[in-house]
Amino acid sequence: MKVYNFEDNHPLSGANLDEQYMREALKLAQRAFEEDEIPIGAIIVSNGKIIGKGYNLTERLNDVTAHAEMQAFTAAANFLGGKYLRDCTLYVTIEPCVMCAGASYWTQIPRIVYGARDEKRGYSSIHDKIIHPKTTIVGGVLESECAALMMSFFRNKR
Ligand SMILES: [Zn+2]
Repeated sequence: MKVYNFEDNHPLSGANLDEQYMREALKLAQRAFEEDEIPIGAIIVSNGKIIGKGYNLTERLNDVTAHAEMQAFTAAANFLGGKYLRDCTLYVTIEPCVMCAGASYWTQIPRIVYGARDEKRGYSSIHDKIIHPKTTIVGGVLESECAALMMSFFRNKR
């Protein structure tokens, strides 16, 4: 699902801007990959500035809640000094799971951009009402790069 305006071709706006930020999230996913964690990365952007970052750390922390998005939410809330992430966008390389989608609801974040869909554990396969009704979702940004990292990770595991 894309909601871009076709006239929005300025190098630092719309789709291009989303791709630029998704590349930052992909760098974090790559770092997770190098640490033998499931390669998912996330950033939170507010007014053109990255205010929170995270990548999956469930192995290192022995914590099933240590998803990239959860850490990025916590970092952004700490940066802002408040729990609500209004005026922010979450960029995450893979579609959020129900836990992270549920957390995003509580942050009231107005926009979520993800790379590749997660057919098995992605929130939309389970129940798309988990997302806050005012949150806009954009999927498929740098989808093939985001998915390729996951595929090579799981290929190495078998
Ligand atoms: Zn999650």
